[in-house]
Amino acid sequence: MFALRHKGGKLEGVHLQLSDTDLSILVQTILNIRSVIRRLLPAQPCLLCGAMSRNGLCCAACEAELPRLTAAHCPVCALPTTAGETCGKCLKKMPPFERTLAAFSYAFPLNQLVKALKFHEQLILVNFLADELARHVENRPDCLVAMPLHPQRLRTRGFNQSQLLAARIAKRLDIPLLSSACQRVRDTPPQSSLPWKERDKNIRGAFEVALPAQVQGKHVAIVDDVMTSGASIGELARALKKAGAAEVSAWVVARTLPQPAKTLSVSAE
Ligand SMILES: [Zn+2]
Ligand SMILES: [Zn+2]
Repeated sequence: MFALRHKGGKLEGVHLQLSDTDLSILVQTILNIRSVIRRLLPAQPCLLCGAMSRNGLCCAACEAELPRLTAAHCPVCALPTTAGETCGKCLKKMPPFERTLAAFSYAFPLNQLVKALKFHEQLILVNFLADELARHVENRPDCLVAMPLHPQRLRTRGFNQSQLLAARIAKRLDIPLLSSACQRVRDTPPQSSLPWKERDKNIRGAFEVALPAQVQGKHVAIVDDVMTSGASIGELARALKKAGAAEVSAWVVARTLPQPAKTLSVSAE
């Protein structure tokens, strides 16, 4: 990862080549240092309302407003059901993953935090959102994979928020993170730019399991920021099962729940 060349006691050149995994480790280290610094500061403005707060990222009032996914929901896809039973859609056609774990519903003001993480590089949010998700874990998988970004998209954005979330959760729960097992081999238009019914087709064949031996016979949990139609996670789960994974769980920070049509169009998937 780092190569230093000395000549006659003098540093001749510094060659820095960072892989995606190295980049994640580097960003995670910076995040950890920043979170220590934040704890030392007397007060900081709340990311959502700007009020000064000693609470960390959000003030107590905003944190209480976050839409935690507490209502009864389908264990497979996390959409609301009357008494927590499997929903009709999953009964009719089981998705390629066994269960979904979501900390929040993708609604105001949590959606603002996810957008701040993704599009405004508020990377400090990674630890907060990852810890919220990790708190809900009951069924421990053998390993984690992050929803991969296409290398081209990774270059543009500079980081993969799912990889950062997965790295934090892996460390916290002491579960191995398979950083190179899955790849995105097709750069598709963003799912959020398409109507729900076209998302399955758009994402088909987008993923490849490059190291199938790492997932064979294993329970794998896919970590992603938001599940909207479930098409991306479904397609990655399909690829993992094809490569021999025994069981797949979907772990997402937030689940988009059915809402009036005009709000569904602002999904972040
Ligand atoms: Zn606030
Ligand atoms: Zn369901």
